[in-house]
Amino acid sequence: MELFINPAHQVIYKRVDKNTFSYKEIILPGEWKSKSINSEISGSFYMSALNSGLTDQETVNITNLFQSKLNFSRDIRVGDHFQVVRSQQFVDGTPTGQSRIEAIRIFARKHCYTGFLFEDGNYYDVHAESLARAFRRYPFNGRHRISSPFNLRRKHPITGRISPHKGTDFAMPIGTPIYATADGVVKRVKNHPFAGKYIEIKHDGRYATRYLHLSRITVRRGQKVQRGERIAMSGNTGRSTGPHLHYELHIKGRAVNPLTAKIPMAASVPKNKITAFNKRVANLIAMMEPKVEISSAPNDGIKQ
Ligand SMILES: [Zn+2]
Repeated sequence: MELFINPAHQVIYKRVDKNTFSYKEIILPGEWKSKSINSEISGSFYMSALNSGLTDQETVNITNLFQSKLNFSRDIRVGDHFQVVRSQQFVDGTPTGQSRIEAIRIFARKHCYTGFLFEDGNYYDVHAESLARAFRRYPFNGRHRISSPFNLRRKHPITGRISPHKGTDFAMPIGTPIYATADGVVKRVKNHPFAGKYIEIKHDGRYATRYLHLSRITVRRGQKVQRGERIAMSGNTGRSTGPHLHYELHIKGRAVNPLTAKIPMAASVPKNKITAFNKRVANLIAMMEPKVEISSAPNDGIKQ
């Protein structure tokens, strides 16, 4: 008696006695073949993906992968396009039904959203940053001195009264670029007498971040932002004792120390794997680029 789960996975049963069977499980490695799909959006992304040959499950997986970055019903328009490299498993030329998405690029208006499957089973964007919904610890690049730490029992430096310091202050020159620490939606863009020009971003329901005393804000309320996207320039607006960024992290409505809070941290491809990753990305992108038709052999300059 044989049980076929798929051509690559067979289970063979053998009767040992009346009620007992022994079985042997055979898993064949099969052969994986990659194919690229290059398709234009006509109607919804979902329908366009199905029409391009992706399965329902693959389409759902892609949508989930970019869920926090891209609103598939609002940010994608007819005429945008997407590219996918998909591998399918074959045994003796028969597809086993096993497939995996190796790479995705979605060109939606001015943005290009990328995802590349790496050897650890995770998807990373073209900059080797994980697509998992997660945070980066600091809303800026490089290092800036902490001029006032998170402290719920702090004496206010100007009024002298106990007033909780719900964020961390980083001293930095006016005009330092400030980046969203996670994917999210801009909930507030305000100019407040104490907080100065500030932004609040909602992330995934339970998390929110705030960026205070800014000099310039480069996002609008309601805008979707990605982790690492520039949202503002630091400043010295509102009640502030010098140029700095006040950064807050809230979990379920409560301010927590943004430097120590247990939050899902964004992973990037480890440094010692970066060369391998970049090579893989280059290969996958080459596969996705539309083929240039060569109608005749190139002239090699040799006269016949
Ligand atoms: Zn502060």
